[in-house]
Amino acid sequence: MQAKINPKCHSGKGIAYVSTGHFLPCCWCDNLHPKVRNYFKTFGFFDDELKVENNENIEDILMSSTWIDYHKVLLQQPHKASFICKQNCGVGFDLKKEKR
Ligand code: SF4
Repeated sequence: MQAKINPKCHSGKGIAYVSTGHFLPCCWCDNLHPKVRNYFKTFGFFDDELKVENNENIEDILMSSTWIDYHKVLLQQPHKASFICKQNCGVGFDLKKEKR
């Protein structure tokens, strides 16, 4: 079976507001493991332009290319998703072999 992700954030799980003043796709992504943090940092979720105080409304953040691209990754390139998403919403991943 090919590994895939059934994102709970696509079926009701809410986004998370985190202490840096940004949103993340869900509370599980607000993980203090440095590699998990770095994954979302590298993806752009912690960029200044996505900070809540720098936006007029939430839609501007959720419709940004960073957010849209991440949701595409979950569905179309699940092997490139965060370890956290593979762990919490993934099916068929060998988590012992996956990098955080
Ligand atoms: S762990 Fe990832 S895929 Fe699952 S709900 Fe959170 S952001 Fe979505």
